[in-house]
Amino acid sequence: CGIVGYIGEQDAKEILLKGLEKLEYRGYDSAGIALAGEAGVTVIKEKGRIADLRAAVDFSAGAKTGIGHTRWATHGVPDVRNAHPHQDASGRFTLVHNGVIENYGKLAKEHLGGVRLQSDTDTEIIIQLVAKFAQGGLSTEEAFAETLGLLHGSYAIAMLDREDPDTIFVAKNKSPLLVGLGDGFNVVSSDAIAMLQVTDRFIELHDGEMVILKKEGIRIRTISGEPVSREPFRAELDA
Ligand code: GLU
Repeated sequence: CGIVGYIGEQDAKEILLKGLEKLEYRGYDSAGIALAGEAGVTVIKEKGRIADLRAAVDFSAGAKTGIGHTRWATHGVPDVRNAHPHQDASGRFTLVHNGVIENYGKLAKEHLGGVRLQSDTDTEIIIQLVAKFAQGGLSTEEAFAETLGLLHGSYAIAMLDREDPDTIFVAKNKSPLLVGLGDGFNVVSSDAIAMLQVTDRFIELHDGEMVILKKEGIRIRTISGEPVSREPFRAELDA
């Protein structure tokens, strides 16, 4: 139901948890975050409140990059296994998703014959396809674009690649998602309210767009590869 992501120099864990707390009013049944630190990517998920998630990440992760999610289950019961973030079998890719992938069953049959799915969600197909295309030799950006081109439905997505810890891969189609700009950091959020704690400059994303988000800057493109340039706006809500 809500997505946050941060890449920069500050404590990502705290910014993500605060952001998720701002999204709580929208309703959710479970929540999780993924933190990319020196030791790789750590995923923590809880059924229940953000307060429970906060208690479960009661350690200093030291991570300066991460993504977070509140889930409103559409496919698969609300439990920890189905909570986001989801990972591929190798643990290289980690992803959060809002929305519904309508053709996930068909895609699983056509593309993932041998792979055992770890959850009952429509979301997991996305990360399994990215992993498959990356294994086939595509760069992460191209594997992501290839996957997005196959999806029917709605999505706001933020994804981490363990082998490229300086990037958050972002995509949007028929689900709300904004990029927030900072000085030495950048963020992504399904709602400006979650990230007004760090910035009030946001860029709106349109359907069918992807973002390569780094702490020094962002690059927007369409799924088919055309570059997009768009000016930020100033959000004027009460934080
Ligand atoms: N369809 C996905 C799921 O059931 C995402 C739900 C959401 O938008 O929170 O896990």
